[in-house]
Amino acid sequence: MENSQSHTIDFSVIKAEAMRLGFSACGVAAADVVDAETRRIYEQCMAEGRMADMNYLARYPDLRFDPTQLLPGCRTIICVALSYYPRQPLPDDTYQIAYYAYGRDYHEVMRQKLAQLISPLAAAAGITDVSSHFRPCTDTAPMLERYWAVRSGIGFIGRNHTLIIPRLGSYFFLGEVLTTIKPTAASDAPPFVEGRRVRESSCASCHRCIDACPTGALHSDGTFDARRCLSYLTIEHRGPFTPEQADMVSSQPTPYYIYGCDRCQRCCPHNQRAVPTTEPLLQPNQQLYSMTPTRWKQLTREQYQQLFAHSAVKRAKYEGLMRNIECVY
Ligand code: SF4
Ligand code: SF4
Repeated sequence: MENSQSHTIDFSVIKAEAMRLGFSACGVAAADVVDAETRRIYEQCMAEGRMADMNYLARYPDLRFDPTQLLPGCRTIICVALSYYPRQPLPDDTYQIAYYAYGRDYHEVMRQKLAQLISPLAAAAGITDVSSHFRPCTDTAPMLERYWAVRSGIGFIGRNHTLIIPRLGSYFFLGEVLTTIKPTAASDAPPFVEGRRVRESSCASCHRCIDACPTGALHSDGTFDARRCLSYLTIEHRGPFTPEQADMVSSQPTPYYIYGCDRCQRCCPHNQRAVPTTEPLLQPNQQLYSMTPTRWKQLTREQYQQLFAHSAVKRAKYEGLMRNIECVY
């Protein structure tokens, strides 16, 4: 293995490559253990059952709270953000799916983009054994990705629990590259957000997302209860709904969401000037715009497979999506 201590890179190189690839923001954080308070809050949330049955979130705590264990010799975490905000939302007179699922599955897209980011960085740092020095992550490792995005300086976590990038909003996929290389001291530069410096920002006294959540999943004390969140219920929950769950899904205000929920982001003032994605792979599947409630209700398994062949909606599976539709139809 090459000597990781010898590899450095100027942050301007990382930034230039990230911009060239169409990322909206990029920052770097020194790889380290997650701070004790963040870990305490995370573990309390799990212990209180607020993450419902997403038990995978409790697995691999050693790795989750110490990302240096995910890559031997890891010194830096590069964080990037890729917009998925669609130019044209689905019409209000039909069922909604979360914006992030309009285009191709983000795992596929981000994986490609991170590989495209790593390649020139390895070349610039003189690294040939790429896999020993870079590890791309996009929901593919137990990482606290919003925590690292904050540490990298690209944004803050809002009361809606999303990563908010000042002036750009929250409609972003996050990706990370763990690496043994270190930005040079001369380039301990601030992160870039569309080429500009990030200014301090926060939710201030706003609580629109808490008010907009139809199921009370967001609490004013800053906690979040996935058991009451339509995104959890319509995507992650397996099997039939309990009467209480069915009531939460069916009594949401119109337009009904049948996959995910964007209400706590749509109402956020930070998203007022969101810029639509220009990434070709994230452009909406045009067939979605012709789906009426009746067509959704009559969706066959074959049509589902064709409509969502490369989509994140596959996570809910046909049975899950039809369960959601049955509930609101
Ligand atoms: S995604 Fe929807 S249900 Fe979940 S917290 Fe946000 S507004 Fe509430
Ligand atoms: S809606 Fe308001 S409180 Fe909620 S995340 Fe946005 S700025 Fe923060």
